[in-house]
Amino acid sequence: MTTSSSHSVPALDSRLVTELKGVGARLAERLERLGIISVQDLLFHLPQRYQDRTRLSAIGALQSGTQAVIVGEIGLAQIRYGRRRSLLCLVSDGTGKLTLRFFHFGGAQQRALAAGCRILCFGEVRAGPAGMEMVHPEYQLLDPDEEPLLEQSLTPIYPTTEGLGQLRLRKLNLAALELLAGGDGLDDYLPAPVRIKLDFPPLDEVLRSLHCPSPGLSLDVLGRPDYPPRRRLVFEELLAHHLSLRLLRRRFTDSLAPALTPTGHLSQPFLQQLKFSLTHAQQRVAAELAQDLAAEHPMHRLVQGDVGSGKTVVAALAALQAIEAGFQVTIMAPTELLAEQHFNCFQAWFQPLAIECAWLTGKLKAKARRETLAAISGGEAQLLVGTHAVFQEDVSFARLGLVVVDEQHRFGVHQRLALRNKGVSEGVRPHQMVMTATPIPRTLAMAAYADLDTSTIDELPPGRQPIETAIVSDRRREEVIERIARACAAGQQAYWVCPLIDESEALQCRAAAATAETLTEALPEVRIGLVHGRMKKSERDYTMAAFKAGDIDLLVATTVIEVGVDVPNASLMIVDNAERLGLAQLHQLRGRVGRGERQSGCVLLYRSPLSANARSRLQVLRASNDGFEIARRDLELRGPGEVLGTRQTGAMQFRIADIMRDQALFPQVEAVAEEMLQQWPEQVPLLVRRWVSGGVHYADV
Ligand code: ADP
Ligand code: MG
Repeated sequence: MTTSSSHSVPALDSRLVTELKGVGARLAERLERLGIISVQDLLFHLPQRYQDRTRLSAIGALQSGTQAVIVGEIGLAQIRYGRRRSLLCLVSDGTGKLTLRFFHFGGAQQRALAAGCRILCFGEVRAGPAGMEMVHPEYQLLDPDEEPLLEQSLTPIYPTTEGLGQLRLRKLNLAALELLAGGDGLDDYLPAPVRIKLDFPPLDEVLRSLHCPSPGLSLDVLGRPDYPPRRRLVFEELLAHHLSLRLLRRRFTDSLAPALTPTGHLSQPFLQQLKFSLTHAQQRVAAELAQDLAAEHPMHRLVQGDVGSGKTVVAALAALQAIEAGFQVTIMAPTELLAEQHFNCFQAWFQPLAIECAWLTGKLKAKARRETLAAISGGEAQLLVGTHAVFQEDVSFARLGLVVVDEQHRFGVHQRLALRNKGVSEGVRPHQMVMTATPIPRTLAMAAYADLDTSTIDELPPGRQPIETAIVSDRRREEVIERIARACAAGQQAYWVCPLIDESEALQCRAAAATAETLTEALPEVRIGLVHGRMKKSERDYTMAAFKAGDIDLLVATTVIEVGVDVPNASLMIVDNAERLGLAQLHQLRGRVGRGERQSGCVLLYRSPLSANARSRLQVLRASNDGFEIARRDLELRGPGEVLGTRQTGAMQFRIADIMRDQALFPQVEAVAEEMLQQWPEQVPLLVRRWVSGGVHYADV
C-alpha cells in the first residue's frame, strides 16, 4: 500500500536515483537527460510500448512485420559479399527455415554462429530475398538439451537516451518497484473518493502493472486505451496539466491590478464616430472585458473570433477604458505589417479623441526610438502599438494598465506567460487580453489555455457573403489570370499570395517579385503592386496605402499579409502552392477577402500531382467557411503540434496521454480538477509536480 507522509523514511519523490544500487554519477547524468532525478521520476518514466517475448513461435508460422521469439538449429552460416558484406545464418526448427542477417559482426561472433548450434532469437520478421529473415536479432546460443528461458510477462520498452540501454532501465525500474513494494512511500495524490468513483486501481498497483505486466497479459489488452492502469495514468496526466494551468491562473488572479473604472468620456464619442454599430457578439464580449477591467485583479482573457469577426474594435473599447482611467495601453502584433496597420487604424480612431499614440518596432531608427521610449516612460504616450519590440528590457511604462496581444497563435505559450511580467510595478500587474482568429478547439483549449478566461465573438458583421473557394491545378493558371483581368476590369481588387516554397524569407520574396513580373506582362491593363517582408517600411506603406485607396488593383504578396490585413474592397484571393500551407493559415489568407458586401472568391492553386491527403485538406476549405470547423478538421489531419504551432508544443509534451486519442476524458478531467481545487487543494501542487516537468518553470514565470 502507499503510505502517508507520517512514514519515517523519506517518500520516493525526495529520494534520488543515485540511492539505487549501481547508479553512479555518469548514469545519473544520463537519467537526468530523461528528466529522471528522483526514484519517483523513474517510476513515472513509463514504457512507450511492449514486446512479447513470452511465447515461442514456429518458424513455419512467422509473419512478416511481426516480432517473434524462435528456437532452431543453424544449418548453414556464411559470409555473403554483395553490395554490403553480411553474415547469413540459416536456421530451421522442423516447421520451416529462417535467415538471420548480420551486417556488423566480429570474428568471434562469426565463429560462434557455426552450423549445428542451437540458437534462441528475438527480432522483427521480414520478407527477404529467400524467404523470411531477421536482421540483427537479439540471440543467445543454447546447449543441445537446454530449455529456452522465455520471459514470463511482456517486455516494456522505454523512451531512452544515448548510452542508456533498455535492460538498464528495466532493472532500475524493477529496483524502484521493489522499494515501492517494501512499503517505501509514494503518496497517491488522487484522493481516494475520486479514485474509487472513477473505478481506478491504486497507484502502486498501476505502476507495477505498467512496468511489469502480469504474466499472460497480451499486447492487445495492454495497448487498449481503456486498460484500467493506463486509463488511470492518462487521466492523471491530463489532470495534472490542466491543474498546472489553473494554478498559474490563480496565482495571477490573486495578484493586484489597477481597477479601470470606465467614465465613457472617450468611449461614447468613439462609438458615435464609428461608421457601423457593433454586432451583438461584439457588444457581449466588450461588456465581458469591461467588467474584468473594472476589477482590481488582473484580467487574462482570450478573445476568439473568426477571421473578420471584428476583434479590433473590441480591443479599442478595452483600450479606451484603460485610457479613460488614466492608464497606458500597449498592443502587440506578430508582424511589422500588422503592427503598422493597427497603428494606422488606432491613430485614425484615437486622434480625434486627442489620445497620444506611439509606435515601436525593431526597425525604428535610434533617435526615433529614444523619443518614443521617453514618451512611454514619461507617460505622454497613452497607446503604444508595436511588434514584440514592445517587450524589450529598455521599454518601461509610466502606468501600464492593459496589454493586448493580437493573433496570439503566433506566439508560444511560454512567450505569453513571460509577457505577464511586463509592466509589473509594486506587485500591481496590468490586465491582459489576447486575441486569436485561430479558433482553439475545446479539447486543446483545455490543455493549453486553461489559464485564460475565454470570450468568443461568434457572429460576423451583417451583409458578409460566404467566400466561394475553388481548388485549381496550376496547369490552369491562364484561366485564373483571366479571372483576375475580369474582376479588376469590374472594379474589384485581388491578392495573389506566394507562400513559402523554400524556408528562406529571401527566396520567398524573390518568388513573389518574379510572380509580380510575370503577372505584369500577362495583365498590362491591371495596376499591380508588390509587398514582401524585405522591403523598406516606407515602400511597403506606400503600396499598402495605394491598395487600400484603390490605386492598385492586384497586390502580389508573400504570406506577410496573412494576418489582419484589412482592405474591404478586395474580393478575390489567389493562393499559389496552396497545398504547402496549413488549413488555419489558408483560412487566414482567405479571410483577407469577403470583408465587404461583395461576393468574394478564393482560388487555391496547387502543383500537380496532388496527394490524396493534400486534396482532402484543401477540400475541407472548400466545404467550410467556419474557422472552428476547419480547426477541428486540421487537428484531426495534422495533430495538435502543428495546429498550435511547434513553439507551443514544448508545453504539451505528454508521457502517456494523447490529446486526440484521449479527448473523451476531458469533461471528466475538468470536473475532477474543480473538485480537487475545492476539496483537496493541498494535493494539487504535488500532483502537478509529479507530472509536469516544466512545472517549476511555469511557477517561475
Ligand atoms: P478581425 O476579427 O479579423 O481582426 P477586424 O477587426 O479586422 O477583424 O474587422 C474586419 C472588418 O470588419 C474591418 O473592416 C472592420 O472595420 C469591420 N467591422 C468590424 N465590426 C463591424 C461591424 N459591427 N459592422 C460592420 N463592419 C465591422
Ligand atoms: Mg485582426
